[in-house]
Amino acid sequence: MALASTFYLNTLHTHNNDTLSLRTTRYPGFASNSSLIGSKLLPRSSAVKSRIRPISASHEAFDVVVIGAGIIGLSIARQLLIESDLSVAVVDKAVPCSGATGAGQGYLWMVHKTPGSEKWDLNMRSYKLWNMLAESLQKQGLNPLEELGWKKTGSILVGRTHSETDMLKKRTKHLIEAGLKAEYLCSSDLFNKEPALLVDEDSGAAFLPDDCQLDAHRTVAYIEKANKNFTSKGRYAEFYNEPVKCLIRGGSNGEVEGVETTKKRLYSKKAIIVATGSWTGSVMHDLVRNWGMQLNIPIRPRKGHLLVLENFNSLPVNHGLMEAGYVDHQTAPSPPMVSGLERYDHGRTLSVSMTATVDAVGNILLGSSREFVGFSTDLDESIVNHIWKRAGDFFPTLKTLSLSDLSASRNVRVGLRPYMPDGKPVIGPVPGLSNLYLAAGHEGEGLALALGTAELVTDMVLGRPTKVDDGPFSVHRFC
Ligand SMILES: Cc1cc2nc3c(=O)[nH]c(=O)nc-3n(C[C@H](O)[C@H](O)[C@H](O)COP(=O)(O)OP(=O)(O)OC[C@H]3O[C@@H](n4cnc5c(N)ncnc54)[C@H](O)[C@@H]3O)c2cc1C
Repeated sequence: MALASTFYLNTLHTHNNDTLSLRTTRYPGFASNSSLIGSKLLPRSSAVKSRIRPISASHEAFDVVVIGAGIIGLSIARQLLIESDLSVAVVDKAVPCSGATGAGQGYLWMVHKTPGSEKWDLNMRSYKLWNMLAESLQKQGLNPLEELGWKKTGSILVGRTHSETDMLKKRTKHLIEAGLKAEYLCSSDLFNKEPALLVDEDSGAAFLPDDCQLDAHRTVAYIEKANKNFTSKGRYAEFYNEPVKCLIRGGSNGEVEGVETTKKRLYSKKAIIVATGSWTGSVMHDLVRNWGMQLNIPIRPRKGHLLVLENFNSLPVNHGLMEAGYVDHQTAPSPPMVSGLERYDHGRTLSVSMTATVDAVGNILLGSSREFVGFSTDLDESIVNHIWKRAGDFFPTLKTLSLSDLSASRNVRVGLRPYMPDGKPVIGPVPGLSNLYLAAGHEGEGLALALGTAELVTDMVLGRPTKVDDGPFSVHRFC
């Protein structure tokens, strides 16, 4: 009941450059018979109806404010709501799924993850938590396919050269040693599993039969619905189409006390969590720029296109498929920017690797591209053609079809993966501002890592030991 232990009286507010300096008098304890709403003192009975207590029409107070309603921010809100009795607000400059999350293909696969890497424990924990969520839905009599778009298709990482199949044999061995069910498929086994694939004697694959996928839109809708169940208890609120402009810092210890959006101020007693995906570098720069802090979070937007073919029956795909080259494409370094601006030499940054999945309603999803071209999410037809051509290299049937003939059933999703140069997300408190946390930079695995990240952040906020080592994700590496 943290909200019940502090309330605020605003006496004066002035703007100091971009940073709001709000004189807030804190009233610790909730022992009196009244609570402050607006400038009126109301009887306690009114106050206990809701634990989210507006201080005035344009000020509200919560225990935790989460900035960003992508899969990361919403999952963190969910975890805090179910693991504690804290009140949580989620604020977004747009709406859920408007960022990278809405473009996500939805695979939660382990087949392309590397045992022993710094992210491995978080990968494994998150994988387990997603499976536990699907199982718990089933136990409640709900259908995980309906709720999350959940499908246990298994995943296949396809190699077509000697060096790729050698790598896949080793990978399979390591995945088995790490405790996963995995199998190396020789070319004939691969062909039997996926007859639509072009398979020759040099082909082979790593196969994880237990790998699963979800639908990002259905999953976000499920999490949102679950979070909103806490609204009536006064513990949850959403503020959409409200960009956060700056942080409110005050008190004798200079802690961050809240955020200012374009419409209001949201105070937070316990924690503020920045989960703004690709925008985190610029958001943090703007939020702390007047405080003399050295904090350069090097997250860059890595644009991705995904081609969706609705009611497409010409391509039978039985499992989740990914080409072996995806692993190198994902970890490729970003080239230097042109004159420090968010501009890159387009030709030097584009990579396209084949991924193929069938979603909950039978659409074929063909992925995907990676390029550093700033924050634009404009659809680029040339990239869609690249994806189609790359898919055709693996599925000969597609070479007999023209993409332009499929325009009626075709959809393209575009999103900005939050890319980190060292390949690891940044998760944890900001040094010197202990109640300000970052949770961003998940590049192409934010859906897969969402529940593990949410658990990690929740344990940090609640002061509990974390289930996985948070060291590799520390904000310290940028200070
Ligand atoms: C084509 C494609 C395919 C992908 N496929 C997969 C996949 O199969 N599996 C997988 O695990 N991952 C996949 N990913 C990656 C995954 O989508 C991302 O890692 C994940 O969505 C990142 O989530 P996020 O919440 O950090 O960011 P986002 O979803 O981008 O959310 C960030 C939010 O912050 C908000 N915001 C920004 N600035 C402000 C501000 N000033 N004030 C308030 N709000 C703000 C934005 O509006 C946005 O809603 C894919 C990505 C792409 C592009």
